Amino acid sequence: MTKIEQLVKQPKNKFLKVKCESCGNEQIIFSVPSRNVKCLVCNEEIAKSTSHKAKIKGKIIEEF
Ligand SMILES: [Zn+2]
Repeated sequence: MTKIEQLVKQPKNKFLKVKCESCGNEQIIFSVPSRNVKCLVCNEEIAKSTSHKAKIKGKIIEEF
């Protein structure tokens, strides 16, 4: 958890807990991903990288 704690201290950077709509897997992703994020379980795309922030396809459960 040390890595996440360090990153959270930086301004603007947020983490989102997103639930995959296909398989229900909950995954923590960066709010501004540099590339598209896929579900680790079923490989479904759960967040799309845009120039400013992620376009979340799954359900956001929590923000950090
Ligand atoms: Zn999934």
